[in-house]
Amino acid sequence: MAILVTGGLGYVGSHAVKALIERGEHVVNLDNLSYGHLEAACGSKVVIGDIGDRDLLRKIFATHDIDSVMHFAAFKDVGESVVDPQKYFLNNLANSLAMLEVMLEFGIRMMIFSSSAAIFGEPEVVPITENHPKSPTNPYGRSKLQIEEVLAEYSRAYGLRSIWMRYFNAAGADPSGLIGEDHKPEFHLIPLVLEAALGKRESIKIFGNDWKTPDGTCIRDYIHVNDLAQAHLLGLDALRKGKETTAYNLGNGNGYSVKEVIEVAREVTGKNIKAEEVERREGDPAVLVASSEKIISDLGFQPKFPDLKTIIETAWNWHKNHPDGY
Ligand code: UDP
Repeated sequence: MAILVTGGLGYVGSHAVKALIERGEHVVNLDNLSYGHLEAACGSKVVIGDIGDRDLLRKIFATHDIDSVMHFAAFKDVGESVVDPQKYFLNNLANSLAMLEVMLEFGIRMMIFSSSAAIFGEPEVVPITENHPKSPTNPYGRSKLQIEEVLAEYSRAYGLRSIWMRYFNAAGADPSGLIGEDHKPEFHLIPLVLEAALGKRESIKIFGNDWKTPDGTCIRDYIHVNDLAQAHLLGLDALRKGKETTAYNLGNGNGYSVKEVIEVAREVTGKNIKAEEVERREGDPAVLVASSEKIISDLGFQPKFPDLKTIIETAWNWHKNHPDGY
């Protein structure tokens, strides 16, 4: 029995692949290398190609005894999605539809899907539970919500059961130091702060100091990438035992401001990281904090790295040993 992981050479995907391999799963890792890294394969069987390539998928499903798909492959640059929505609807939505079509053709009826807190948009209440109203503020979030909607219909009509993992802010790196976060270009807060600590950039820009939060900077819920990986494995086990289609929000339920993140990074790295307060970034909600109560009670999810300091320590361990990425 094997599992198809899409985008398994990327940041979250590679950490899930490592966890799957460590517990003895056979992983076929389909990645088109648009953002992935071959060095992140972790012993999986890598196939280079697109999730929208129906013939390639047919070949994979005909060759391997695949029971389920973990679907990470997607573009995820929110700003880019506003400028070029077509890129997001073609890659994230249309290519997912193509893959689902071939999954149905081969009778593969289980999927763990990487969704996002971006489906909620500006929250009405925090912490955000699964049934919070969905109102994405950008095409990236919209593409993720559309796939959830498709998956709900496919579950009802074709019995293709899926679990939608809605990540809040993925951060940190595997403590082994073998894999970590390497986006080019980088636009996430923690890796940028650590690049500033390494002297690779002069300072970190704080996007806005006049938000309605205690210190005026945005608040986010950071969750360790290994904890996300663990959640995927729990989801897979649940699907294999017959779990019906559902969604889970994944965070730690604790919000940290941009200034707090920078302060903890100063403590962890021992570096005086220079910060500069600049204009707000368009499309940023002030506060995003998850309620993960549902996955805790349904699947027994228990984060191993819930505190921000440990999350940043593991990220620092990766960045200082791989200053230029893989
Ligand atoms: N942020 C910042 N400076 C940066 C990058 C990000 O102040 O150079 C802020 C951003 O406005 C947000 C938080 O840090 O409030 C987390 O941003 P990130 O891009 O890491 O994740 P997002 O919350 O957008 O998914």
